Amino acid sequence: MNKEEYIKQSEQDLLHTYNRYGVIFEFGKRVYLFDTNGRKYLDFAAGIGVCALGYDNEEYNQALKDQIDKLMHTSNLYYNLPIIKAAGMLKKASGMDRVFFTNSGAEAIEGAIKAAKKYAYTRDGHAGHEMIAMKKSFHGRSLGALSVTGNKNYQKPFEPLLEGVRFAEFNDLDSVKELINEKTCGIIFETVQGEGGIYPASQEFMEGVAELCREHDILLILDEIQCGMGRCGEMFAWQSYGVKPDIMTSAKALGSGVPVGAFLMTERVAEKSLAPGDHGTTYGGNPFVGAAVCKVLEIMERDKMTKHVQMVSEYLWNRLEELRVKHACVIDHRGMGLLQGLQITLPVGDVSQKALERGLVLITAGSDVLRFIPPLVIEKGHVDEMFHILNQVLTELEA
Ligand SMILES: *Cc1c(COP(=O)(O)O)cnc(C)c1O
Repeated sequence: MNKEEYIKQSEQDLLHTYNRYGVIFEFGKRVYLFDTNGRKYLDFAAGIGVCALGYDNEEYNQALKDQIDKLMHTSNLYYNLPIIKAAGMLKKASGMDRVFFTNSGAEAIEGAIKAAKKYAYTRDGHAGHEMIAMKKSFHGRSLGALSVTGNKNYQKPFEPLLEGVRFAEFNDLDSVKELINEKTCGIIFETVQGEGGIYPASQEFMEGVAELCREHDILLILDEIQCGMGRCGEMFAWQSYGVKPDIMTSAKALGSGVPVGAFLMTERVAEKSLAPGDHGTTYGGNPFVGAAVCKVLEIMERDKMTKHVQMVSEYLWNRLEELRVKHACVIDHRGMGLLQGLQITLPVGDVSQKALERGLVLITAGSDVLRFIPPLVIEKGHVDEMFHILNQVLTELEA
């Protein structure tokens, strides 16, 4: 079959939940993807922030192959070595105390919600607690995660969702304050909103919410699924704010391509939270994903990935500022580290399509934002290469 036939087959067989770009990637090298016609693309999407190490990392690949040959899965009825090591490394990287591994981001969010509810249940001796989430947030597609996702379009067909979730304006402390009542058990938000359009939490908001949480014994739940794992210049984006969550979630780059997520909590929360019988997963944290998490964390720490991100992301910031100044269609530039966005007045879908045709993989966020979320291993030269392609595309579409 040729490419067109494969695509036709795909559209016949797979449930149509995505409008896909007409390309089939076959393999990757470092920060480039190659399609079935042998065409090369510079990747500024990293599989939606997953492929932090880029592609074809020999050390990572070898660690996975070795683990496949040893043991893939045992279930959580038994201990397993890779995940014990992974949990220790993740605790060290985050400063959190307890880890539960999941298979996806949405499941990490589900677990975080349950953990907060159980904490409040133990403390108060009864259920019926509520959560505060943010407008424009994104936490995943399962029903619990969807319930805290501040996007009516995603929610509407699936209502009724979880009861007792109320939405505040992100970065508006008063709007959070207004929603707090005696039932509130958790406040959840992304340290940097991703899908909603790349909005970092302001320092004031972060500190203010943390203070409110302390005052009312509400749990601060930070979703670091997209912005964490080194992407924003620290291992986890909240670490640059000088606050600490009670519960946090991770996924995406955590396995750099292997499906794995996690929710973590402090010991104070864990003591009153999920206990045997309260939560579980068959696959979650199996030896295979454990080996991946260990290798990712090991490489990130050894290669001082956060330092590299700080350096290259500043360069990306400056080059995107050039585009902002140069092109009238660019109306805002936001972000943190290697998670940046350009808000534009041109149709973002057209820009990403044209970029793809010119060999640049670029994705969007929200309805009017170009999202820059490359592998963390990109270099300045790759930023320049992206700049030139995007500059051409914007010039052409503005004409
Ligand atoms: C991607 C994402 C999720 C959901 O993760 P899945 O693995 O797709 O379930 C949740 N929160 C944030 C911030 C994300 O970016």
